[in-house]
Amino acid sequence: MESPPFQLHIAFFPFMAQGHIIPTVDMARTFARHGVKATIITTPLNAPLFSRTIERDIEMGSKICILIMKFPSAEAGLPVGCENASSIETLEMVPKFFKAVSLLQQPLEYLLEECRPSCLVADMMFPWATKVASKFGIPRLVFHGTSYFALCVSDCLKRFEPYKSIETDLEPFTVPGLPDKIKLTRLQLPSHVKENSELSKLMDEISRADLESYGVIMNSFHELEPAYSEHYKKVIGRKAWHIGPVSLCNRDTRDKMQRGGVASIDENECLRWLAMKKSRSVLYICFGSMSKSDFSATQLFEIAKALAASGQNFIWAVKNGEKTKGEDREEWLPEGFEKKIQGKGLIIRGWAPQMLILDHEAVGGFMTHCGWNSALEGITAGVPMVTWPLCAEQFYNEKLITDVLKIGVAVGAQEWSRHERKILVKKEEIENAITQLMVGEVAEGLRNRTKALKEMARRATEVEGSSYCDLNALIEDLRAIKSTSY
Ligand code: UDP
Repeated sequence: MESPPFQLHIAFFPFMAQGHIIPTVDMARTFARHGVKATIITTPLNAPLFSRTIERDIEMGSKICILIMKFPSAEAGLPVGCENASSIETLEMVPKFFKAVSLLQQPLEYLLEECRPSCLVADMMFPWATKVASKFGIPRLVFHGTSYFALCVSDCLKRFEPYKSIETDLEPFTVPGLPDKIKLTRLQLPSHVKENSELSKLMDEISRADLESYGVIMNSFHELEPAYSEHYKKVIGRKAWHIGPVSLCNRDTRDKMQRGGVASIDENECLRWLAMKKSRSVLYICFGSMSKSDFSATQLFEIAKALAASGQNFIWAVKNGEKTKGEDREEWLPEGFEKKIQGKGLIIRGWAPQMLILDHEAVGGFMTHCGWNSALEGITAGVPMVTWPLCAEQFYNEKLITDVLKIGVAVGAQEWSRHERKILVKKEEIENAITQLMVGEVAEGLRNRTKALKEMARRATEVEGSSYCDLNALIEDLRAIKSTSY
């Protein structure tokens, strides 16, 4: 008698930040729709960010569940309830958060013992997960949550250290070894690239874990960055599969509305507002899940003035943070701003339903910090971008958008920093970038190229598409490993 087909079971373990949780959950849901059993491991306060979506998937027949692990906030000296990087409020909390993360190794082992998956997809931020997986005799896949392009730039910077022979922080240099001529300045590089620190040590551990793991899983698609997907595999020599854009698994309006958190605006209000606007006439502004409060009040003021002067319709997602608390008037808004923009502008204070907004046909531009999820969501919606990178690998992603894909206009950000920046981007620069993006010949070209990429993204995830095929190839590989024992 033939034995029943082997049920592949993958455990997904995202880092505790929305920019990592959101794509990992989408990835787990995508695998589950391909017949894989998926278990998402997370902490009590992060689970509600996506549990309703998972319940709906279960009702639709997906084999998917959430396993809860306690987050050791108290043990690491963090306040109760600090389980997500977006709740880090002070600089002193950063090392404590990483301490808490390092304490997750044993709880992960207990949970793997309990659920016995056949593979572990763990975030890059857990380099020790490779050893944990090997204890259980299962392969570990790494999820970086960024582009092939950014991984290639990081590798070349590390390998050739071109920034060391440059005289000043503002002098552009070419990153050697890449398929295109990419220029950066030292001021745009992450601090861990230039200085030895706890973070640079962690980045080295991450690199080593990449090499020791079974491979890397990418939220990208071949047609978007073919030269870099090749470079990553053939020149850098990593094993990788691309299965994105994973956000395309959200077809239902409720999934888009509730993605990553409870939206701070009512769905109907948002859709009604958008429905009143002409096709492609709205600019959407959002700087990711972490960075919104990192702008000084002065910088926010410049953005507000530029928006009003540009005359464009806009939706602006701002963080519901300290700057807006306990003040009669929000100091970052010019006097009479809300009255002036009435009917033209909508400010969302808190969590914006980003995917729902970007996918609406009234939206014609996206001012973004170039977090990879946001960049890819803009591309998938066919919306060109004003690029305004702040930190992480965002200055690399900006170059992919503006110089390689030519689907964005740079606002002119010069300074990599996780906190308030010294160099102000002025109202005139912001207004200029917005106008180039939204009206005229340049805008037309940007829009056409982004639209073409949107179609490619959809085709990549459909039957026989490049991401669909890579996903199936990975599933087959993992099944084969199980039968030969890893
Ligand atoms: N996001 C959202 N609403 C917000 C802010 C962010 O839905 O108000 C989502 C966005 O769609 C994306 C993720 O949060 O999926 C942010 O990830 P990204 O890589 O763009 O930036 P990060 O927050 O990691 O810097």
